[in-house]
Amino acid sequence: MTTTVVVGGGTSGLAAGFTLERAGADYLVLEKRDFAGGRIYGTTRDGFTLDLGAQFFMSRYHATFEIMRKLGIYDELTKFTEPAGVGFVRDNGIYPAYLSHSYNMRHPLGVLKFSALSGKGKVEAARSVAKLFSQAKKLDFDDPEKAIDLDSLSFAEYMNKHSLDEVLEYIFQPFASFLTLGGPEEISAAYGLALLWYILPGMFTTKKGIGYLADSLAGNVPNLRLNTCVSRIVLEDKRVKGVEIENGKKKEFIECDNVICSTPAGQAAVLLPDLPASMTDVLAGIRYSACVHVMLATKRKYLGKLVAIAAPRRDGLCSPGFLDSANKHPSYAPPGAGIIHAFTYSDYAREMLDMDDAEVQARVTRDIQRVIPEFTDEPLFCEIFRWPQAVCLSSPGQIADVRRLKAGLREYRGLHLVGEYFGMPSVEAAIHTGVQAAERILE
Ligand SMILES: Cc1cc2nc3c(=O)[nH]c(=O)nc-3n(C[C@H](O)[C@H](O)[C@H](O)COP(=O)(O)OP(=O)(O)OC[C@H]3O[C@@H](n4cnc5c(N)ncnc54)[C@H](O)[C@@H]3O)c2cc1C
Repeated sequence: MTTTVVVGGGTSGLAAGFTLERAGADYLVLEKRDFAGGRIYGTTRDGFTLDLGAQFFMSRYHATFEIMRKLGIYDELTKFTEPAGVGFVRDNGIYPAYLSHSYNMRHPLGVLKFSALSGKGKVEAARSVAKLFSQAKKLDFDDPEKAIDLDSLSFAEYMNKHSLDEVLEYIFQPFASFLTLGGPEEISAAYGLALLWYILPGMFTTKKGIGYLADSLAGNVPNLRLNTCVSRIVLEDKRVKGVEIENGKKKEFIECDNVICSTPAGQAAVLLPDLPASMTDVLAGIRYSACVHVMLATKRKYLGKLVAIAAPRRDGLCSPGFLDSANKHPSYAPPGAGIIHAFTYSDYAREMLDMDDAEVQARVTRDIQRVIPEFTDEPLFCEIFRWPQAVCLSSPGQIADVRRLKAGLREYRGLHLVGEYFGMPSVEAAIHTGVQAAERILE
């Protein structure tokens, strides 16, 4: 009998497996796909490093940095090339803002000079940032309940209450959509503000791309079985009995004392039919954005020194902006070359999930050319990856729902649910909840 089965070998499942491995515990991680890492997924092609899922770590990712120390890869961590500018588009102009601690410390009133906004807009944006600082103590990716009073409002409602429509539409909407691939109405104020608080001091990657974290974790979790799809987590008398695996016509049952279920919430609802509907309904109701992620390698750079350009939704582009990975760190691309990422979002992404690759590439290229008219029609190559579930949206009310779910789970012996949706959705929350569940079992 295996003591602990971890269902899912994404970031949270691998973090749990790694913690159990280090403690010498008995465990098995089961992953349905032929690769581990889930939504942290990296690869290389023709001298370019491609981050197909998660793009960066933010400066307050404590659990992430701690696990990198334990893996011995902390030295690979690197800040985005300074000063990490993001250009905000307004009426055909591109106005840079900087996501860098050193830049913002040197220019604390930079927002008052931000010419994408009217005079009144600048003052209101500065007030929003000041208000953000006053809420900072509540904004914790690893402990979302601290911000429960900001959970029932959407980020858009909060910004409309405390700022101008202009500031929402030209700054906070593109920002929120870039990071969540949804709209500011779809995420809670707690999540939107936490994202802002976490990103302001800067962004990080590793010199080998974000995928290096998943590869390093997987390399240190020897009891990992790929191509193994769990079909049910079996509970009896409110305790874990084991997991069922279906492989074509073959069925297997693995008996165990503990299960750490690290799949996205909707899948967890299906895997756990023995839980009452009051709990599975919460899981099934957790919302995710979708994304058709398009990467275009180019002979030259098109964003200058900017790491990204963010466009407002009223411009009707299928991506909230474009990012050049070559400006994350020089190791991402051959000298002088660029690698543009377009993240299709909201309804655009859902419509494009079934489009063929040539159509997707043509649509995205057209949209890039609306912002950068000289952008090439002939990239060195184009990679497309589809994420039907991209980022958990932490919609209004989710923190309260997850709190109720957690309370219910305490009645079940040996059952642990982990993943981004238990924190403020991010790599950080995935790692934190995975490590926490493993530590609870070890106790
Ligand atoms: C395009 C994109 C950009 C992003 N950018 C960022 C970013 O810059 N920064 C950031 O912090 N976050 C970012 N994210 C979000 C981040 O990637 C996720 O929050 C995080 O990786 C989620 O980890 P997880 O372990 O909770 O879930 P997952 O990584 O989804 O892991 C779940 C695993 O369970 C497996 N599984 C599912 N069902 C079964 C089953 N029945 N049996 C066995 N295995 C199963 C899946 O195959 C998967 O490997 C981004 C995501 C996307 C898609």
